[in-house]
Amino acid sequence: MTDRLIIVLLGKQGAGKGTQADLLSKHYGIPHVSTGEILRAAIKAGSELGQRVKGVLDAGELVSDELVNDLVEERFAQPDAARGVLLDGYPRTVGQADALAAMLLPNTVTACINLDVATDLVTERLAMRRVCKACSAIYRSVDPSGETGVCERCGGEVVQRGDDTPEAIRQRLSVYERDTAPLLDYYSTRDLLITINGDDSVDNVFAAITAAVDEA
Ligand code: AMP
Repeated sequence: MTDRLIIVLLGKQGAGKGTQADLLSKHYGIPHVSTGEILRAAIKAGSELGQRVKGVLDAGELVSDELVNDLVEERFAQPDAARGVLLDGYPRTVGQADALAAMLLPNTVTACINLDVATDLVTERLAMRRVCKACSAIYRSVDPSGETGVCERCGGEVVQRGDDTPEAIRQRLSVYERDTAPLLDYYSTRDLLITINGDDSVDNVFAAITAAVDEA
């Protein structure tokens, strides 16, 4: 039986997880599952879930483990997840990592990639980040207060994310240190952690990740 490949992308906000996740998802033929994207889509759609979580996202806090665990479990049950999933932004706490471990089936290969980038650099990257409202393509502005624009990929509107403001960035990075950084030890003690230097070109980071995953 073919192994199911679960790639967990860890790293601070702005480390390049979203960019690498798109490339890796195409390369390995597994869906890119971003819990942040699922939550933002719910907010955009104005669903009950969206209304419930909007304030939490705007404040740069985390939504409850229970809520995201349920979202991920539902996503795992969809047919396109049969061969595996690329997880971006999940797990984010030790409680979520335990829940993920409980969801995994036998014959699952798990690789946890830690994209390592210094805090100063991610802070700068987040302030410059712009995203397409329609297709979520990621762009980089030339200055923090920089313009919005039109997406080269789909023609959608390119804007700054509501949680990429200086205050929300500070808050999200401190939440990362408090709740998510402990996952580095969690996966390291389970011999699953692969740390990759994320301060390099997109192509070089991608090559380093695929080489490590192929060996896992
Ligand atoms: P991201 O796009 O991964 O930066 O996520 C954006 C926001 O969505 C986060 O700041 C949290 O408010 C929420 N979020 C995304 N993933 C999770 C998660 N695994 N656990 C809790 N909150 C999450």
